Amino acid sequence: MNVHDSEQLTELLNGSGYERTDTARQADLIIVNTCSIRDKAEQKVYSQLGRYRHLKKERPGLMLGVCGCVAQQQGERLIEKIPYLDLVFGTHNIHRLPEFIARVEKTGRPVVETGFHETVPSVGILAPPEKGAVSAFVTIMQGCDNYCAFCVVPYVRGREESRRFHDILAEVKALAARGVKEVTLLGQNVNSYGKSLGNGHRFSELLRAIGEIEGIERIRFTTSHPKDLSDDIIACFREVRALCEFIHLPVQSGSDAVLARMSRKYASADYLDSVRKLREACPDIAISSDIIVGFPGETEQDYQKTLDLMEKVRFDTLFSFQYSERAGTAAVGLDGKVHPDEKRRRLIELQALQDQHTREKNDKLVGKTMEVLVEGTSRNTSRDVMGRTRTNKIVNFAGGNDLVGKTVRVRIVGAFLHSLRGEMLD
Ligand code: SF4
Repeated sequence: MNVHDSEQLTELLNGSGYERTDTARQADLIIVNTCSIRDKAEQKVYSQLGRYRHLKKERPGLMLGVCGCVAQQQGERLIEKIPYLDLVFGTHNIHRLPEFIARVEKTGRPVVETGFHETVPSVGILAPPEKGAVSAFVTIMQGCDNYCAFCVVPYVRGREESRRFHDILAEVKALAARGVKEVTLLGQNVNSYGKSLGNGHRFSELLRAIGEIEGIERIRFTTSHPKDLSDDIIACFREVRALCEFIHLPVQSGSDAVLARMSRKYASADYLDSVRKLREACPDIAISSDIIVGFPGETEQDYQKTLDLMEKVRFDTLFSFQYSERAGTAAVGLDGKVHPDEKRRRLIELQALQDQHTREKNDKLVGKTMEVLVEGTSRNTSRDVMGRTRTNKIVNFAGGNDLVGKTVRVRIVGAFLHSLRGEMLD
């Protein structure tokens, strides 16, 4: 979501005569787009802004701004902490950036805008992908109504609002006409797409309609909430050819007691049932998830239930975190705080188990032939290209830049923790 916000900011600035620079030192304007989902991400923002301080000293004309979730939460307090900031604007005000720049230029005073609007105009900003890009993000909704106990999103992104069905289709058609083959549909909880529209459009319908658009070979989406993963959506994995065999389905915990304290509104059995249905509909589907360890009140038994769930599901990949308290969320008031050393122990152990599962999954792919969409030159060597399978696995193999944007068949010859090695067959 933040990456796409940055693309939209870039598009707005291009329209105002700005050009991208290679380094911060060359820039006349620096906007730091922030995330406050974890404490670590927020702390990084402050250290990055600290590094820009000397640039501002050298060139007082340099305009420095902060947007995104930290800006939304902190507002005026950011200017108090970092007095050399010129711009602070929140998640609902991205579309007003050119106006804010003009105000700072005219008055020489900082601008702070963190108000919420009933609609979020930035969801309609079309940010064309870079020339030759094969993949693009498409925002289908903003905000969230779920208020999970650990999460700041509803407070920093506002209420859930879906984009109009036909606007999304028009955007995907425009992307396909530019050569984009893969779209990733974005939203905090894409499974509940359409609820705020009140006209009956649902997420499964959107998937089916995008699946009909000529040129779109692959559809992905993120993020899903297990409680809203309907049979309708699961059926799309069987019936919509372009829908990739991959889902990110955050479980957060394997303990029902912890899930209840998190206000997730499903039990571990519901989650396992969804996984069963997904695998019935699409046997090769790859599943990734999010897990938080050390949520307030999580006992050793609760934690063991999470490991049990991991053994049952065997995720392809997992994003796992120690619980970090976010100001303003319901979990702040919960008792049973877990000691940091204990959280660390649980995370290390859990990640070791996941590494074992990921390796097993990847090893099983050796010898198989997979369809890979080539995205660019490999990070390892310029003699290789890298692409992704439909199951979202990274594959490196020998090939030149002429392959970028092409879908090729690749035989998997080696498996690692984070990628696969292949040989092109076509
Ligand atoms: S559904 Fe996701 S974005 Fe919404 S509150 Fe829960 S964790 Fe946060």
